[in-house]
Amino acid sequence: MIEIDQLKKIETEPKEGWGFKELQERVDHIYKDHDIKCDYGPDTMLAKLIGNVTTLTHALRKTPNELEVINRSLTNVFIWTTTIANIADIDIQEIMKEKFGEGCPHCKQMPCLLTEGKKCEAPMEPIKKINQLTPPISLNDWQKHLKKMYSNNYTGDIIQSMRFCASKILEETGELIGSAYADTEKELNKVSFDSILASSFKSEMVDLIAWSMAVANCLDVKNGQYSIYLSLKEKYKDGCPYCKSPKCICKKEKTFIEELKKN
Ligand SMILES: [Zn+2]
Ligand SMILES: [Zn+2]
Repeated sequence: MIEIDQLKKIETEPKEGWGFKELQERVDHIYKDHDIKCDYGPDTMLAKLIGNVTTLTHALRKTPNELEVINRSLTNVFIWTTTIANIADIDIQEIMKEKFGEGCPHCKQMPCLLTEGKKCEAPMEPIKKINQLTPPISLNDWQKHLKKMYSNNYTGDIIQSMRFCASKILEETGELIGSAYADTEKELNKVSFDSILASSFKSEMVDLIAWSMAVANCLDVKNGQYSIYLSLKEKYKDGCPYCKSPKCICKKEKTFIEELKKN
């Protein structure tokens, strides 16, 4: 007899055409119960995200040739972004489609005018759409779509592009976290994901995902091939890669602050 858990595993098994929906389901299946049990609140999740983004930016700047290190932190960034989207009840496919589905959100072109050496600016006249673009669904198609939209990012020195991505990804994460708090200067009380369904939070999340995809595309150019979908599939195909369990049972480590309190 197949256990319920096994059935769920089969349903969320990565397949070709695995999109953000499947990624969100997979993260939910592996980590939801674990995160509740560990009492991870929004503050902790945002802290985990910035921690992993910092590791990624460090790797992009200091060790741009170490694919394994960058791959590990890039996949972690995707997983924590997805975790936050899940708890905030955000449909990633929907927000990606809204902002990048049909072209560059600023100049409204596909590809962006930057690819022609022009300024990416809002058009003076409303654009007449000749061919309605079908927005991508699979992670692979999203990666290709964004590569085509901003191909100018990958034509020069790729190490420079990786450094540029590093600063953008850090900036976007800062903006995402900033938008989660009512007022970062005055209020330092706890953030709640119930109250941050504001459009700015979604918009910052989309930018973070787009720049994470840009890192994937840098790796694709630099190494001849790199698919964030294949990397995530490889790492999460059997569940949590750290405790090797279909549903994560990793032990919660004491945070630095908790350690300080003890003494
Ligand atoms: Zn543009
Ligand atoms: Zn685990």
